[in-house]
Amino acid sequence: MAATADHSTTGATAPAYYVSTPIYYVNDRPHLGHAYTTVAGDVLTRWHRQRGEKVWYLTGTDEHGQKIMRTAEANGVSPQQWCDKLVEEAWKPLWEHLEIANDDFIRTTEERHTARVQEFVQDLFDKGEIYKGGYSGPYCVGCEEFKLPAELLDGATADEKLCAVHKRPVEWLEEENYFFRLSAYGPRLLEFYAANPDFIQPASARNEVLRFVEQDLKDLSISRSTFDWGVPLPWDEKHVLYVWVDALQNYITAAGYGSDPERFAELWPASVHLVGKDILRFHAVIWPAMLMAAGLPLPKRVVANGWLMVGGEKMSKSNLTGIAPTDLTSHFGVDAYRYYFLRAIPFGTDGSFSWEDFTARYTSELANDFGNLASRVAAMVGKYFDGVLPAATAAGDAEQAVADGLTAAVAAADLKIGEELDFAGGLAAIFEFVKQVNGYLTTQEPWKVAKDESEEGQARLATILYTAAEALRATAVLLNPVMPSTAEKLWVSLGAEAAGLGALGAQTVATAADWGRLPVGATVTKGEILFPRLEEKPTA
Ligand SMILES: [Zn+2]
Repeated sequence: MAATADHSTTGATAPAYYVSTPIYYVNDRPHLGHAYTTVAGDVLTRWHRQRGEKVWYLTGTDEHGQKIMRTAEANGVSPQQWCDKLVEEAWKPLWEHLEIANDDFIRTTEERHTARVQEFVQDLFDKGEIYKGGYSGPYCVGCEEFKLPAELLDGATADEKLCAVHKRPVEWLEEENYFFRLSAYGPRLLEFYAANPDFIQPASARNEVLRFVEQDLKDLSISRSTFDWGVPLPWDEKHVLYVWVDALQNYITAAGYGSDPERFAELWPASVHLVGKDILRFHAVIWPAMLMAAGLPLPKRVVANGWLMVGGEKMSKSNLTGIAPTDLTSHFGVDAYRYYFLRAIPFGTDGSFSWEDFTARYTSELANDFGNLASRVAAMVGKYFDGVLPAATAAGDAEQAVADGLTAAVAAADLKIGEELDFAGGLAAIFEFVKQVNGYLTTQEPWKVAKDESEEGQARLATILYTAAEALRATAVLLNPVMPSTAEKLWVSLGAEAAGLGALGAQTVATAADWGRLPVGATVTKGEILFPRLEEKPTA
């Protein structure tokens, strides 16, 4: 896999790097799990932007279906009013708060979506991919999904069966339905998975999907006639489209499918669909089969992240614990929040969060290793050189080792974050470099060298401080996609922009490793403390 994109051979419309989150179900407020996926997508997006690529980041909300209708009813409002309120008061403000730089936010109740969805399913109907039939079976309203008897758990009584995800009784549903011929796509899907081994990640997710598709796929019921909160089937308006079939199409309707062919050609197929592992089959089986039926290209990758646990309890839409993302950002700050989950939990695996672990990483990695380094270097340039960055005229092996460490950190971070979505690995590489710079200062002892007033001593001191400041210049660039506000504070403190290096947002991953970019003479100031000491844990 190439570490950097090469667009030199592309034609008039270079394909964009297109990242999507799932569109989230707005039956409730966003929780830590939603924020985890959305921050990951944001970091991936910002990383590719920093490579100088054209990038498009999409998120949004899934607003149809029986569960939302019932939630709205229970709250005494119409489903549309319910969705409008949640989207405007909870979802969009949280993404703004977390500095999510999405390019678009699609809502499945918008006409730009529903009109295209109707065209898409009409096309499949005209091609004979959709037919009318009957179905009855156990149905979980929480999942919006018919269940197989083997997937259910025993309930409190002999006839009661529970959804294995929601631990709530399933309902018996009998419907005259329209079906999508999913069963016809098993062999083609398996062929596709074999030809595209990176399509589903991580490997555990891929294996699960392979095992599922290797059994006989059943045709998929794609309409409901027992309620009306959904997209009506254009040829039979008594039916609304199954909410999942409606929702999945957001990835193409937002990208210009059926409305803007030029834009669609530039954006589709998506580079990465980020999904939770509970919705993997929809994205790795049903969605590709629907696209095959429509004759459209398939997304390049579907990457499933694991569960976040708090004390072993899964934080998902069906089992919320009481911690809202803002409970954590108000204590640790937004940037530390963005950093923590990606650093602490290997992407793709389940991981647990604890207040203690967050506090420990905040203190040791962010405040001590990184924040202190930045403030010490700025303080010494201030004290010994009146805040004017001196030149490194006496560089030797020790300085070369720091420059080499940077080269290695940039290469590792670019591969891990930009290509492998191994955010924890990429951040580890960057913080390994921060540790190296701390070690360099400990060994070089500039505070002792400062006492040597000879020309040689002053040249040594200047060299050490330039080296440390230059290392911070690169660190600001590398951390900008993860902690944009903190990186900006550091950029300002180094006087980089005023010295002619341009805005932080204009720096690229490729030039991060170019040693010696920070201009001599830059005005270094001791700015804001990057990671202030934490208050005591609030008692709720
Ligand atoms: Zn369920």
